[in-house]
Amino acid sequence: MGVNYLDYADVNMADVDAVVVGSGFAGSVMARELAERGNKRVLVIEKKNHIAGNMYDEIDEAGILVHRYGPHIFHTNNQRAFDYLQRFTEWRDYQHEVLANWYGTFMPVPFNKNSMEIAFGEEEAARLTEKLIETFGDERKVTITELRAQDDPDLEKVADFVYENVFLYYTQKQWGLTPDEVDPSVVARVPVFLSRDNRYFQDEFQGMPLEGYTPLFERMLDHENISVCLNTEAESVFDLRFSSDDEDAPLSAIALKDQNFEGPIIYTGPLDELFLARFGRLPYRTLDFVYETYDQEFWQPCGTVNYTVTEPYTRITEFKYLTGQEAPNTTIMKEFSHPYEDPDTQIPYYAIINDENNAHYNRYLALTEPLDNFYPLGRLAEYRYYNMDVIIGRALALADELVG
Ligand SMILES: Cc1cc2nc3c(=O)[nH]c(=O)nc-3n(C[C@H](O)[C@H](O)[C@H](O)COP(=O)(O)OP(=O)(O)OC[C@H]3O[C@@H](n4cnc5c(N)ncnc54)[C@H](O)[C@@H]3O)c2cc1C
Repeated sequence: MGVNYLDYADVNMADVDAVVVGSGFAGSVMARELAERGNKRVLVIEKKNHIAGNMYDEIDEAGILVHRYGPHIFHTNNQRAFDYLQRFTEWRDYQHEVLANWYGTFMPVPFNKNSMEIAFGEEEAARLTEKLIETFGDERKVTITELRAQDDPDLEKVADFVYENVFLYYTQKQWGLTPDEVDPSVVARVPVFLSRDNRYFQDEFQGMPLEGYTPLFERMLDHENISVCLNTEAESVFDLRFSSDDEDAPLSAIALKDQNFEGPIIYTGPLDELFLARFGRLPYRTLDFVYETYDQEFWQPCGTVNYTVTEPYTRITEFKYLTGQEAPNTTIMKEFSHPYEDPDTQIPYYAIINDENNAHYNRYLALTEPLDNFYPLGRLAEYRYYNMDVIIGRALALADELVG
């Protein structure tokens, strides 16, 4: 059948039992579950001109399958999320590897026993590794804070190296921070992996959808009870009704086409956008992606290379490693991180999570709380960073609640 695309002007609200805003994993899993398990007629409203949210991929002009909103590698220990996706795609086994480009030399990230040899030379690396294993045990991830807590100059030497050469400049570029502003709780989590396992993720299941993410979403939204309106912003079709004129007065109803909508509304966009930023915009980092195509089979040694000490971009991804596509040419993508300033031309990617911003978000959330048919869900609506598997898990849990 294919996805049932509809113009919003042609929607008859009498035929709609549930509204879902956004067609990323949060919105698409909810739409499918409400349609299939709940037997509800679902209207999906998506502001972009395509489905699949951040996971959208397509063939570029050079014939290479590329991700348009950042490289996405599926990895999980959540059996339910993995089983759920199996219904909509076959998988290509892919174990993601990341290298740091350290003044032109490549070393595995997370920093591990192999990186240690590259950084310190074989002999010194063997001595330091032995000490690390004696202190912490083998095959463990140890944070640089744990290393420093031992008050041992050798362990401190490893911690300092990782901090200065793998972590600091990358984090400054990613978040636009000076070294002093880098949150100690983030530094605390930087790991040294006492292993020769060069994989970036150690999750039980890792892979890529065999034909890409967009066909997976097309199958998920291909259901007789689902209609999708593209190029439609929630804020332009929702008529928000408030309990009073007070700026902090909560919602009493949301109307579509002049009628209060009583069914579930699953909202997966940013909450500040829904309220036209009445309390100011929620802070985010955005990304610019610069694509380059080369007439050679491969351009770099693995899927992603992080630039940890040089270059203004954070990382380069070469898609053919991820997708397994065979072609004589290749496309790479450089990522530049910036503050998010213009919702018309930029996309909010990373919520900047701190106490002040959480309070700002909670002020928006409070506007929705009395409305018991409104469900904020997903990385934007919840102002959090979530991996894909976590979002799928959260959507399935909300569907359990709504349709049993
Ligand atoms: C650069 C980057 C790389 C990532 N890589 C990985 C990875 O390798 N592995 C992993 O597991 N996770 C990764 N993630 C996380 C992953 O992107 C999220 O888990 C996933 O996008 C969450 O899905 P979602 O539906 O909540 O949000 P989204 O995918 O962002 O979907 C939200 C949808 O809502 C639409 N929308 C927003 N506002 C409105 C509105 N007002 N009206 C109508 N529609 C609206 C948007 O257009 C979008 O289509 C990455 C994230 C980023 C930023």
